[in-house]
This record gives sequence, C-alpha cells and structure tokens, in this order.
Amino acid sequence: MAEEKTFLIRIITPDRIFYEGPAQMAEFCTTEGEIGVYPGHIPLTVILKPGVLTLTESGGKRRAALHTGFAEILPDRISILAEAAEWPGEIDISRAEAARKRAEERLAAHQADTDLARAETALQRAVARIETLR
Ligand code: ATP
Repeated sequence: MAEEKTFLIRIITPDRIFYEGPAQMAEFCTTEGEIGVYPGHIPLTVILKPGVLTLTESGGKRRAALHTGFAEILPDRISILAEAAEWPGEIDISRAEAARKRAEERLAAHQADTDLARAETALQRAVARIETLR
C-alpha cells in the first residue's frame, strides 16, 4: 500500500509547544465552520473557534480541545497559535461542566450588563472540553 502523505503540525499556546509532529489530516473548528485539512492544501489563514481538534497519524487519531487563536495552513505544514489547548487527560470534566452551567445561566438571565460575547465564548470552551472527552 502506498504510504500516506503527511504534513507538519505545530501548535503553540502561551505556556508550551502543545504539539509538534507529522499528521495525515487535521480537523478543527474555525469561525467559518469545521474544516478537515490534508497535506497539499492551498495556503489559507483561518480564525479558530473553541472545539475539538482531531489529528490523524499513522498510529491512529488523537483528540484535544483547542480554543481561540488562528491557524496558518500551508501545503506542507499547519502552524496554530492558540490561547489554550488540552489533551483529554488534562481536562477536568467537573470544572468544564460547572463553566458550562455558569455560562448557560448567564446567557439565559438576559441581564443588560451581561457581556454576551464573553459568555458565548466561555460556553464554547466548556462544550469543547466536554466534547473532547466523548
Ligand atoms: P473556567 O471558567 O473554569 O476558568 P475558562 O474556559 O474560563 O474556564 P480558560 O480561560 O479557557 O478557562 O483557561 C484558563 C486555563 O485553565 C488554561 O490553561 C486552560 O487550559 C485551563 N483550563 C480551563 N478549564 C479547564 C478544564 N476544565 N480542564 C483543564 N484545564 C482547564
């Protein structure tokens, strides 16, 4: 069987190099929707939305929660700068459930002083963490 093409994925967060290595495909959420990127993709820069990142490697798939930031897609690599990213083993499910509840209550309360965008993003981050563990 022909060997699968790979490209290099580099994901950097403020505190660490979250991931650096080859992959056959990367799927993640952008402000324009979910995308799946294969090696050889045309150059593209996208804004990330909190969601589940899936990396397909020769050994299988890896999932992680990937939050706001941006990604530069080039034919031979993807560089991602994100505010935060977590592997499944790093996710505290009770904290994420509590954050989701808080954000949902804030959004449902319809109070004039609520920063809706902030509450929406907090909800997306919590849902991304919960989804990563599914
Ligand atoms: P919370 O309201 O619970 O603080 P948050 O979405 O506001 O959640 P962030 O600002 O996204 O938190 O993250 C702050 C730091 O805490 C980051 O390093 C992030 O990886 C970590 N973090 C936040 N929530 C969790 C979680 N449920 N499990 C593991 N790490 C988390």
